[in-house]
Amino acid sequence: MYLADFHLHSNFSDGKLSIPALVDYYGKRGFGAIAITDHFCEQTSLIGRASTYLGVTLTTATFPIYRELLKSEQERAWDQYGMCLIPGVEITKNSILNHRSAHFLVLGNLENIDPNLDISELSDRVRPEGALVIAAHPVSTQKIEKQTFHLWDRREELAPKVDAWEVASGPYLFDEVRYSGLPMIANSDFHSEKNMTSWKTLLSCEKKQEAVLQAIKKQQLDFQFYREETVREPSYSTLPWIMGPQLGHYGMGNVDSLQAISK
Ligand SMILES: [Zn+2]
Ligand SMILES: [Zn+2]
Repeated sequence: MYLADFHLHSNFSDGKLSIPALVDYYGKRGFGAIAITDHFCEQTSLIGRASTYLGVTLTTATFPIYRELLKSEQERAWDQYGMCLIPGVEITKNSILNHRSAHFLVLGNLENIDPNLDISELSDRVRPEGALVIAAHPVSTQKIEKQTFHLWDRREELAPKVDAWEVASGPYLFDEVRYSGLPMIANSDFHSEKNMTSWKTLLSCEKKQEAVLQAIKKQQLDFQFYREETVREPSYSTLPWIMGPQLGHYGMGNVDSLQAISK
């Protein structure tokens, strides 16, 4: 069994670390699989165009360089750490309205990405080519930040087009997703080291891209809470009730499994 995290940002969008630094950060911690998923904002909206201006999103100019760097780091991640690096992207559609905003990940094949397409159209385009589509933080993240509810509002329509829905994005479990019957995945939405303490996905398949994507698709996975000891988050020990009843278990060690918590 090994830990995996499929939602990481580098400095190609609004993350703090470079792609090689992310590989080293997760590789040194023994992760078996990661996906780097920088924002690629829709260019048809004003907010998307503003993001391009501010340099916090991939663009049609930087996207080919990003893909090339991911390819070379994929080899290094494997050679140096035995870690599977999956190329990814977070298609980012922001509106001033939370119910019009949608973020989703495409993992595995970035050949035909167009951030201006609706999730349904893009899913039809990329999934036959082996890519996975993941709904990112589809319900309230319980953090003070932009919320993205559009995919959740459309969950019945989109269920056949989405391979998994994030049941956690960081340290919070989303009960709506957890009890929905929809396929799930847990990620950290890593932007900097302070996001490392988070729910992660646990896999037992071969550390190869195809096997990893299949395991997600077939839901052969589990979830674990991972605590990064080097970054202290005082709210965890002093205000455990903020995060809900499951937090009673958090002091027990580095990781707690979702199964243990459900008991
Ligand atoms: Zn997002
Ligand atoms: Zn993200």
